Amino acid sequence: VGSALLDLVGPHLVQRIVDEAVVAKNPAGAQRILLLWLGVVLGAFLLNVGIRLLVTWIGQSAMLSMRQEIFRRLQGLHLGYFERNPVGRILTRVMNDVAAFNELLSMGIPTFFRDMLLLGGIVLALFLTDWRLALVTAVCFPLVAGVAWAFSRGIRVFYRRTRKRLAALNAFMQENLSGMAVVQLFGREETQKEKFREKGALLRDAQLGTVLVFALLFPALEVVTALGVALILWYGGLRLMEGTLSLGVLTAFLLYLKRFVLPIRDLAEKFNMVESALAAAERISGLLETKPEVRDPPAPRRPVPSGTAVAFENVWFAYQGEQWVLRDVSFKVERGETVAVVGPTGAGKSTLVNLLLRFYDVSRGRVLVDGVDVREIPQAELRRRFGVVLQDVFLFRGTLADNIRLGAPGLSMEEVRRAARTVHADSFIRALPGGYEHRIMESGSTLSVGQKQLLSFARALAVSPEILVLDEATSSIDAETEALIQDALGRLLWGRTALVIAHRLSTVREADRILVFRGGRIVEEGTHGELMAGEGLYAELCRLQELR
Ligand code: ADP
Repeated sequence: VGSALLDLVGPHLVQRIVDEAVVAKNPAGAQRILLLWLGVVLGAFLLNVGIRLLVTWIGQSAMLSMRQEIFRRLQGLHLGYFERNPVGRILTRVMNDVAAFNELLSMGIPTFFRDMLLLGGIVLALFLTDWRLALVTAVCFPLVAGVAWAFSRGIRVFYRRTRKRLAALNAFMQENLSGMAVVQLFGREETQKEKFREKGALLRDAQLGTVLVFALLFPALEVVTALGVALILWYGGLRLMEGTLSLGVLTAFLLYLKRFVLPIRDLAEKFNMVESALAAAERISGLLETKPEVRDPPAPRRPVPSGTAVAFENVWFAYQGEQWVLRDVSFKVERGETVAVVGPTGAGKSTLVNLLLRFYDVSRGRVLVDGVDVREIPQAELRRRFGVVLQDVFLFRGTLADNIRLGAPGLSMEEVRRAARTVHADSFIRALPGGYEHRIMESGSTLSVGQKQLLSFARALAVSPEILVLDEATSSIDAETEALIQDALGRLLWGRTALVIAHRLSTVREADRILVFRGGRIVEEGTHGELMAGEGLYAELCRLQELR
């Protein structure tokens, strides 16, 4: 309000300077008003700086808390959500959409408010100063509005086109960067370069369109303004000669007209911002309103270690609809027992782990940990009991030591070393530059597959888990590391309660019991010796060397 008022006062003061000093040839009278005018200009300057700072602070703070909230919600969502929503899309929500919404909040709303006030104020000031001249000037208002409307329509088309093409270019870029090895291997450089050029050219054209609309807007407004100036000079000039209008009023009108065009231009530009911010807000609230499919129980139970560590009771599960991945699966893992799960690819082995750690909920039946349904245990509590080694080892940026103590941040260096030594990771770690302080690059790309596996063993061991869950990696490793890993596995599993999805013959041999899966069912169960004697699927798998 203050900023708009100060803007309105300016032309009025100029009017008085012209009338009371210039026309009246009274320089002394001018001094006071000139000083006042300077004061107004300075005041407007300070006020505008203050407003800008305040509004930016509010906007940035709002953006921070919005992003925090989104991040927190994302962490609470079930894994299925991340399979349906690609990383790129989620990233856009957190970064671009929040920024678009913030722009509306910190720039759009205050400017809109001020512009509307200014427009109303100018019209009022014109009519209060001289209503007849105001009426003549008003002839060009519809023209200004028309230009602004046409502009906002045009700009909307090109903005949307630009956004779409930018997204396409980004996606293409991302894919090509992560698939660089494949691009180079298959000699796709030229083709990809050409595709990139095409997409880039499309983006350039869309952006040129935006620039064209802007390039038209400003001169078009100039023309309309010139028309207004002509009208004011013509009619005002006539009245001036009649002696019914002062030179000051004429000057003030010209200044007001100039001021009238600026907020119109602003509003025309802001119109698109409002539109895209509203779309962004809708997408953000869509994300915030996503209910996690896996939720903590209202009345949690804390299981106490009992004889049967893990039990699956008539478990049915489908990721989608009725496409059963597990069919009526029942088994138990007694405390201190190592149970191996084997079977062909796609039999549903990894799904067992997903259900046990409650990344998904069963469709029918129950999964029990120490006799308590996993749905009745708080997720954090449940997962704390497990030491998990997954096939794909994910390492965070940071030091090696920090990656080992990921699940137990309070661990001392000595304990970290002990965990690493137990699984034979110590020697290779010490050979790396920096040793335990070696910095992990992009998800551990500088380490070998075998090294990453040993690290993940150390990480699982570091939390001293009650139950170990292991999804053995299938990737083949050199004989030496293989021997190391086998021995490390033996040490890891020794005397522990463990569920192992096994691909190594050595691992299954050591297991107390073996479950053989096929098509989501347990088709055989027993020890290595028993199953070999049975001549069933297990014996066949061993023969086919699917178990190395
Ligand atoms: P295994 O570990 O025995 O190779 P999985 O448990 O990974 O088998 O997969 C069993 C079946 O479930 C497969 O047919 C696979 O395509 C399907 N599947 C696995 N994960 C998902 C998922 N996240 N969404 C949909 N289907 C899945």
